[in-house]
Amino acid sequence: MRLLLVEDTEDLAQSVLRFLRAEGHAVDHAPDAATAEEAMAMADYACVILDLGLPDASGLDLLRQWRRAGNRTPVLIATARDQISDRIAGLDAGADDYVVKPFDLRELSARIRAHARRGQGLPETRIAVAGLEVDRAAARLWKAGAEIRLTAREWALFDALLGARGRVLAKAALEEALGSFDAAIEGNAVEVYVSRLRTKLGPEVIETRRGLGYVLP
Ligand code: CA
Repeated sequence: MRLLLVEDTEDLAQSVLRFLRAEGHAVDHAPDAATAEEAMAMADYACVILDLGLPDASGLDLLRQWRRAGNRTPVLIATARDQISDRIAGLDAGADDYVVKPFDLRELSARIRAHARRGQGLPETRIAVAGLEVDRAAARLWKAGAEIRLTAREWALFDALLGARGRVLAKAALEEALGSFDAAIEGNAVEVYVSRLRTKLGPEVIETRRGLGYVLP
């Protein structure tokens, strides 16, 4: 999933980025409100993690502005433990949920997945698709009862197709899903991962639409 982390505390941001990227997410980092605004204008995020105390603006103002403009991207605000009033103000401003600092990274990740699924209109975590049983919350899947293990990148690509719910995804959108891993994305990365997924899951699971992209039928 493509995510946006808005956080000015550098060491916290780096640990969150490392964790979420290792889980297979493509995460952009905005250290201030101006960068966050630019990022939101440029990309379509599955979820935003928003710190409220930013150097150039209040995260709350940023959130209100997005909601006023009709942006419905799921937003998780990150607040300090003692600031209950911040949490209330955040939810009133249109946040979907909050996490309390210092947060457990696994919990943050689970909440991101839950809100991203809801944002895609797919709140359930267990899905049966193309002969597979998929648990999106746990990032696991089974074929005929046997678990098939995917690497983080394979999962990122598969989950992007799953989230599209039968819509064709262009190669560029899938490159974005593979996006911010440390290694550079080569030109044929999408083809390589689609081919690996077909080997593991069966050739019929992902269809190629020539000139358009790929779809999970
Ligand atoms: Ca801050």
